[in-house]
Amino acid sequence: MTTMPHYVYIETVGCQMNVLDSEMVVASLRQHGYQLVDSVDQADTILFNTCSVRQHAEDKIYSALGHLRRHKQRNPEKVIGVLGCMAQKDQRRIFERAPYVDLVIGPGQLQQTAELIEAARAGGGQQLAVSLGRRDGPREEIRRSHETFDPLRDPAMRPTPFQAYLRIQIGCDKFCTYCIVPMTRGPEQGRPPDQIIAEARLLADQGCQEITLLGQTVNSYRDRSGGRTTQLADLLVALHEIEGLARLKFVTNYPKDMTVDLLQTVRDLPKCSHYLHVPLQSGSNRILQAMKRGYTVEEYREMMARIREILPDAAVSSDFIVGFCGETDEEYQQSVDLVRQCRFKTSFIFKYSERPGTKAAELLPDDVPEEIKRRRNNELLSLQDAISEEENQAFFGRTVEVLVEGPSHVAQKRGDDGDVLQLSGRTMCDRIVVFHGPRRLVGQILPVAVLDCTAHTLIGEAITRPTTPELVPLGLKRGVASDFSASGG
Ligand code: SAM
Ligand code: SF4
Repeated sequence: MTTMPHYVYIETVGCQMNVLDSEMVVASLRQHGYQLVDSVDQADTILFNTCSVRQHAEDKIYSALGHLRRHKQRNPEKVIGVLGCMAQKDQRRIFERAPYVDLVIGPGQLQQTAELIEAARAGGGQQLAVSLGRRDGPREEIRRSHETFDPLRDPAMRPTPFQAYLRIQIGCDKFCTYCIVPMTRGPEQGRPPDQIIAEARLLADQGCQEITLLGQTVNSYRDRSGGRTTQLADLLVALHEIEGLARLKFVTNYPKDMTVDLLQTVRDLPKCSHYLHVPLQSGSNRILQAMKRGYTVEEYREMMARIREILPDAAVSSDFIVGFCGETDEEYQQSVDLVRQCRFKTSFIFKYSERPGTKAAELLPDDVPEEIKRRRNNELLSLQDAISEEENQAFFGRTVEVLVEGPSHVAQKRGDDGDVLQLSGRTMCDRIVVFHGPRRLVGQILPVAVLDCTAHTLIGEAITRPTTPELVPLGLKRGVASDFSASGG
């Protein structure tokens, strides 16, 4: 245990996994006497938790490191560390590009962060800790080299203390040809159910109301320990029992594993969110095959039909990659058609970014010009936005249950510090809702009458809890919100 206080600054880019990893790193550093600060000037330890999924994410980190060169010259005692996927992918190349970096730590070695910082501070030189590559030994050894240290939870590091991510699966074995994740996060492994349930209990004891289960293909989750096979549906049933938890979500889903059994379990457990993120990636069968996604457009449509039949109110969202190797205009148009037909709640749309180390980078030319990628990206995004707005308009006059997360982005940007301000929260189906109300509502689940919307936000008014048997919208004339029975949204 360190006796001198230390000050750590951490910057996180990338997915929910990285947000969770940063929470763990900070929790572990706090146990070693560190305090979290919010600028590099106040810090004696500067950490970047990085992402490698697209080139752009890496460029941002290298540029941030570039800005630190002079800072380190002036403050040579400060420790600078690069953590996460880029550390695993680039390893010593990071020291070559930024020789003043002291630590390079892969996602599987984050539990060693405190001791590696100490070693660097004690004059031990640059510290490198990474997992084995996917071809560097027997599977079991590779698997063991990608460890997680999830049980350390720190409510102060979470986006809100009443919402938490919980990893149920690490790594990925799908090897989509464009994707670096199987290399940076290693083999797919389900965490044992006992560990997951114990951690969920701990989170509930810490006041957490909403848990989002994380996995690269979370619905492919399997654990075979103790002679039993546990799947995601079994886990949901067990987690549903935990007192204090109000909402269970899970991301990201793999289309082929969206089984009838899982959908029925979600339907039958009231705490399960009817929000399903199931990336399609492309509307063209030729492209899906080149991506090695393992399903056809027809199979994806069948999955959508299953969802609509079992969970008619479900909000489904997707990811798309535009400009993948050799994507023609017709093939791109097929993605446009699928966006029109599926009416996703949202789609995250990415321009293809070639990743060294992937099959696509090795075998397929990145031959769609940047200008065309950009045009397809913008077009698909505006089509999705128009659909999202239409879908949101269907909520006019309805009342939704909102878990209030805190001041809205607008209120934060304006620096609103009054007691009544614009608050933001989410519905059970992950729709963002803003409304005016007192700060004390943060952390509560309450009904909000929807009055207006944009593509990404429902705008409403909170409804006071009844002093009479009726629910009355705050400041809203009676009768505007016609249906006061709150829906999942
Ligand atoms: N495991 C999740 C899945 O299979 O859907 C997603 C993981 S990945 C971090 C998130 C999204 O990034 C993917 O769904 C894909 O759309 C996008 N992505 C991954 N690799 C990419 C690449 N090389 N270029 C552009 N987008 C990419
Ligand atoms: Fe990447 Fe495909 Fe695995 Fe998702 S399923 S993490 S896109 S390889």
